[in-house]
Amino acid sequence: MQITIGENTLELLIGDITKQATDAIVNAANGSLMGGGGVDGAIHKAAGQELLQACRRLRKEQLNEEPLGTGEAVITPGFKLPASYVIHTVGPIWNTHNPIQDIQLADCYQNSFKLAKEYKLTSISFPSISTGVYRFPIERAAKIAMRTITNYLQTVDFGQVRMVLFSETDFTVYKSALRNIICSS
Ligand code: ADP
Repeated sequence: MQITIGENTLELLIGDITKQATDAIVNAANGSLMGGGGVDGAIHKAAGQELLQACRRLRKEQLNEEPLGTGEAVITPGFKLPASYVIHTVGPIWNTHNPIQDIQLADCYQNSFKLAKEYKLTSISFPSISTGVYRFPIERAAKIAMRTITNYLQTVDFGQVRMVLFSETDFTVYKSALRNIICSS
């Protein structure tokens, strides 16, 4: 599914984010930036050891060895990936006692766009942040992601945005969230 918003395109597809040749791909990282399972593990594996080294350097030089905060984003080269850059962002771990988790998830998308813009990038691929090991309910995450991305593209000339879903089921959820937004606007 592909739609046009101003000068921008937003595409939803089923695929592997490590194969996307957009300027940047976004990693649903954990705060340590040291890799992990899921999409994080797949990205580190495909990018090669240099990515881990770059993340280590970044932790030291930009984060003073602190973990990256939830909703925040940092950027590294893509090394062996077809994408030139990886934007690492930390999604919220689903927790009904956290009143700001929706905002934190929206921040992941917004801060990724902010970095991409700073680097003058014009294409970006996102995975479904927080809906794997972090257990954020996917219907809710999809609404937040699609609302945040479409709002952003309505106000900024960015370029091309891909939402790369890893299963047919996830794709269907995001497609319906996007359709609801289009129909209600
Ligand atoms: P989180 O910790 O933010 O929940 P996960 O990596 O556990 O991150 O899951 C986020 C989403 O990424 C899940 O929907 C998962 O199916 C998906 N995913 C895993 N591997 C890939 C991949 N190679 N490309 C795109 N999406 C992926």
